[in-house]
Order: sequence, then structure tokens, then C-alpha cells
Amino acid sequence: MSKPIKLSHINGKPALVPYDASNRKDNDHAYNQRRSANQSKYVAFYKTREWLHTRRQVLTRDYHLCQRCGLEGSLVDHVVPSKDDWEDRLSLDNLQTLCKDCHSIKTKREWIKHHKGAERYMSIKVVCGLPGSGKSTYVSNHRTDHDLIYDYDVLMSALSGLPLHERNQDIHDYVMLFYDQLLRKLRAEKTFNNVWIIQTYPDERLDTLLSSYHHIDHILIDTDKQICIERLKEQNRFNENMNSVFNEFSKKDFGKFRRVH
Ligand SMILES: [Zn+2]
Repeated sequence: MSKPIKLSHINGKPALVPYDASNRKDNDHAYNQRRSANQSKYVAFYKTREWLHTRRQVLTRDYHLCQRCGLEGSLVDHVVPSKDDWEDRLSLDNLQTLCKDCHSIKTKREWIKHHKGAERYMSIKVVCGLPGSGKSTYVSNHRTDHDLIYDYDVLMSALSGLPLHERNQDIHDYVMLFYDQLLRKLRAEKTFNNVWIIQTYPDERLDTLLSSYHHIDHILIDTDKQICIERLKEQNRFNENMNSVFNEFSKKDFGKFRRVH
């Protein structure tokens, strides 16, 4: 038994098609309907009491200061656009105060990403190596004008008051909090040319946080242990703690790392 047919238009020409075939016009119609329903959902959201309340909270939290340039700001912006992440639209973590200029720069960038598919390329470079191997020197020789540098040891030392390369496990958790926030914001914005993550050993938690990110370069500064020790002694940076760092280091797997000298 043959299927029922109907008269339709394909590329502007009349044609007979199966009765249940949806042609382009139907699709467009459904699409337009869905879209206008969504649009009005967004407009309505910005008038709700919840939003107005949350908005005030964010402005107070941020002291009415633009979180990008520090000037006075009056706009409350979704870090991850609400259209991409509807669930998160009232989450304080996902909201920030911006000034008009910074907001329009951000919006323009988001528009380009959506409409031109021109995703800005930003590479994350994880740089590991022994204390004294020359990680910071390598980064300062290779960085561009618009990079972000996350140095685990410098942050640990700044937050703990301990000498460089000494660790405090409680503060470690706080230093790692930066990763979450940092990567979350970076995923949404791709603001920088390169992001450098400097730390002694590879770290499983970091790998998990970065697992969905494609442009990652793992670099090991492969300097001979003896040379590292001499350098540290010369700079008065050698301490008892270093021996355990060196031991730990020799147990780590650097399989996916590119070695540089
Ligand atoms: Zn601003």
C-alpha cells in the first residue's frame, strides 16, 4: 500500500511529498514560535522580583564597582550568559558588576562567538619542574603582552607567609579554590592569549578541572637536579624541605609533558 501524499513546495517548486514530511516552511514557523517564546521569557525574567533583588545584592557585594576595570559600574552581568546557562541565572557566583564600556566589550565578544563561530584561541600552558629549574624564567621569556600567570608557589607563599616551596595543606585547599574560579571564568570568556599555570608537580585535580579543555600544553622544565640545588643554594633559597620535594618529584609521571631545557 502506498503512503498518502500531499502537495508541497520544495525550493519554491510544487512537488508531491509523503503526507508526514515536514517542509522547510513548517520548520521555520516552529523555530520562530519557539524563539519568540524564549525571547519573551528573557525579557520577563529581568522584571521579576527575584532578579531585582539578586541584582541589588550583587551591586552591594561589588561596592558598585566594575569587576573588570574598577570604575563605577551599574550593570549586573551574567559571567556565563543566561542564554547558555539558564539554570545559573540567579546564582551569585555567576553574576558580576560591570560598567557600560566593559559590558559592551564583553557582549560584543559573546556575539562574535555565537554568530561567527570565531572562537578566540586561548591556550593553557601547565609548566612543571623542580624548584630552581627555571619555570618562572621560562614563562617570562615566552609570555605575550596579554597573558595570565598563575604561580602556585608564589600564591602559596603569599597566603601562608612561608618561604617559597614550603607547603601548608590547609592553605593548599584555598590556593586550589582560585583554580575553580579562574577556570570557570576563563571557560566563559577566553580573555587571554595564554594562561600559564606554574607548579612543581603535575596534579590530578588540575587535570580533572581541565579535562574538557582542548588547547593545553604540558611543559616540563627538565633541569638537572644537581644544577637546581646549586642555583637554590646560590640564591639562599635551599631549605630542608627541598629533599622531600625532590623525592616526591622523582615519583611523578611526566608522560604527557613536553621536555624543555
Ligand atoms: Zn569597566
